[in-house]
Amino acid sequence: MGCDGGTIPKRHELVKGPKKVEKVDKNAALAARWKYCALSTEKLRRPIVTCDLGRLYNKDAVIEFLLDKSADRPNSEVVSHLRGIKDIKELNLTDNPAWEGERRNTKGDRYEDMHCAMFICPVVGLEMNGKHRFCFLRTCGCVFSDRALKEVKTEICHKCGDPFKEEDLVVLNGTKEEVEKLREIMEEKRAKAKATKKSKKSKFSETVSKPSESKENPDSTETVFAEGKTSTENGEDRSQPGVYLWIEQTLIQRSAP
Ligand SMILES: [Zn+2]
Repeated sequence: MGCDGGTIPKRHELVKGPKKVEKVDKNAALAARWKYCALSTEKLRRPIVTCDLGRLYNKDAVIEFLLDKSADRPNSEVVSHLRGIKDIKELNLTDNPAWEGERRNTKGDRYEDMHCAMFICPVVGLEMNGKHRFCFLRTCGCVFSDRALKEVKTEICHKCGDPFKEEDLVVLNGTKEEVEKLREIMEEKRAKAKATKKSKKSKFSETVSKPSESKENPDSTETVFAEGKTSTENGEDRSQPGVYLWIEQTLIQRSAP
């Protein structure tokens, strides 16, 4: 090393170059999450949707994914938690009157300002450019800055007037820890929904199977089920799920003399 009377320190020994570059890259990556679809990486444009984890997507990109999940496409790990259209929520965003990114770009003489965002907070006017925390409401899809929600305490949506609770607030593009927490909430919610569905289903089948149990012929249910299966396989009625067909057949048999 230099400064010991003999050698002159070289530039790379004094300037910590790589670290700075890394930081800039990280900031750019953070800003990009507010500008580009997390799935298609195309520019965000309405309709814009989000998920239980608070990511931003173009709706058409997510629909395309949901229509054919088996297709091999880049970035699909970002949406692996989406099961269907019910897992996304369309956002009600507020346009930034100062934003003219597209117009500037078509002229080609000026380049887009990295910090000028397409959308703003409708309450305090903060730009949605990655520098400020933003949340959306699960109930109505409206989007606000964290500052607005803290400054103006309310139980109805600032934008559309719908009532909401604290737990309806979801942070958009949150930190790694926040996303982990959101994933936990999502999994809990899904497990709960599954349990309710299951208990409903078992109650339902109980009431349906009771009449056949009281019948003298214990094989009747089995026969009917097989019949129903055959007719589905023949393609007579493919749109009807087997269970409904089975119920229908049981009802027909019971009413027959
Ligand atoms: Zn709202």
